[in-house]
Amino acid sequence: MARNLAPSCRQCRREAMKLFLKGERCHTEKCAIEKRNFVPGQHGKDRKAKIQGYGLQLREKQKARRYYGLLERQFRNLFEKAAQMKGVTGENLINMLERRLDNVIYRLGFGTSRSQARQVVRHGHITVNGRKVNIPSFQVKLNDVIEVAEKSRQNPAILAARDATAHQPTPAWLEVDRDNLRAKVLTQPKRSDLVQIQLNEQLIVELYSK
Ligand code: SF4
Repeated sequence: MARNLAPSCRQCRREAMKLFLKGERCHTEKCAIEKRNFVPGQHGKDRKAKIQGYGLQLREKQKARRYYGLLERQFRNLFEKAAQMKGVTGENLINMLERRLDNVIYRLGFGTSRSQARQVVRHGHITVNGRKVNIPSFQVKLNDVIEVAEKSRQNPAILAARDATAHQPTPAWLEVDRDNLRAKVLTQPKRSDLVQIQLNEQLIVELYSK
């Protein structure tokens, strides 16, 4: 399956903000945004022009796409589905991005980054309602029970991630039992649950509506 192989810290520097792509390192002083927060490239430091219009919309889309670790095609497909749903397209988009299984595993702290969470899913360590699901884009639904599979409960990487993310708050739409590596979807994720970064989803809608 195609993956985004771009260097993580470079992506954050391009968006001039932390996108939390590298797990625990993102919370330390080693974070590249802490050390050199300017656009990568030879003339990155000299870029002063204020972006607006199309540039602003593009940056917002790139920021969201990189934050959730998706390729352009995957992100666009999700947007098309969000646009076909009832309600506000931008909010539908955030709802669908949040309900991806790899994102849920990250939010629960069973992976320190989305890429690690995606690997946990792809390696068959996760069950949803008792059935193995190894598709990172799988959309969880209300009342779904998400668990680390019985055979993977002692997996050192998952246990280390759970312990390392103990400080991480769990979003209100999920209920987690960290000791038993189990969680339940309580409600639909809302825009207000997105606290780690600021996203203006309306700019993304405007970009794709051109
Ligand atoms: Fe790198 Fe994480 Fe800092 Fe981004 S937030 S620059 S991925 S260490």
